[in-house]
Amino acid sequence: MLFDAHCHLSLLKKTYPQVFIAAVSMDFASSLDTISLKSDTVLTGIGLHPWNANKENLEKFELLLDKADFIGEVGLDFKYSNADKDTQIGTFNFFLERTFKKTINVHALEAWKEALDILKEASVERALLHWYSGPPELLKNIQELGYFISINPSVTFQEKHRKIAQLAPLEIIVTESDGGYEYKGKILEPTQINDTIDFLSQLKKIDKEEIKKIIEKILKNYIIYDNFIYLEVNEAEDYKGGIDSSILKTYKPHFDFAVWALRTFIVISIKPLDFTTF
Ligand SMILES: [Zn+2]
Repeated sequence: MLFDAHCHLSLLKKTYPQVFIAAVSMDFASSLDTISLKSDTVLTGIGLHPWNANKENLEKFELLLDKADFIGEVGLDFKYSNADKDTQIGTFNFFLERTFKKTINVHALEAWKEALDILKEASVERALLHWYSGPPELLKNIQELGYFISINPSVTFQEKHRKIAQLAPLEIIVTESDGGYEYKGKILEPTQINDTIDFLSQLKKIDKEEIKKIIEKILKNYIIYDNFIYLEVNEAEDYKGGIDSSILKTYKPHFDFAVWALRTFIVISIKPLDFTTF
């Protein structure tokens, strides 16, 4: 089986039974959509992307935290985000303070060092630096912290990403598609991971099946493992149900939240209604 460590599955509106997918979110609405996609082969992440760091009320994400397998995508982007650095850092920390030991799926374009420092400071145990194309010298720190990087289909033509794939030890590499995202006029998809594995095999001069086994081991030992522990502890196997009323009771009776809670309940309970129609 292939593994896609970072995919915007809710945008693709397709299923990929041959790929184990970690589905990430960009904002509250896509977090709701992503949660509804949970299955035996889809892990779900909620979060607010740094591009949207100044666009949403963070507190409403608390409603979704125990429904998610992991947190993401969250992080920093000092190249493209319109949100100032302090707002981005505040948003990133909001999620890190509420991880409950879940894996964090991190976007950190041109902010790799800053994001790593924040993850370390927050004592995050499991983090995946998605589409890592940062300084090669940070790879050592990433490995020492027990974190991972993900390599995506752009590795075949993006020079800085290819360089990372060449230098990083296989022990910290997993594959991703960033599916749903359009890059250089092409919509990325989980199925392209096959080509990424071929490319890695040639680059590392290691058999393709061997690479798949290493990635599977990382997945089982580090990435899924924590989620299973989390599921056990929280008895959260009933993902298909609505939001537990006790979660709603702890919430402030603020009009904004009440509206969001209602929308959450409707979207999770009556899927696959299109959220945008509300
Ligand atoms: Zn992404």
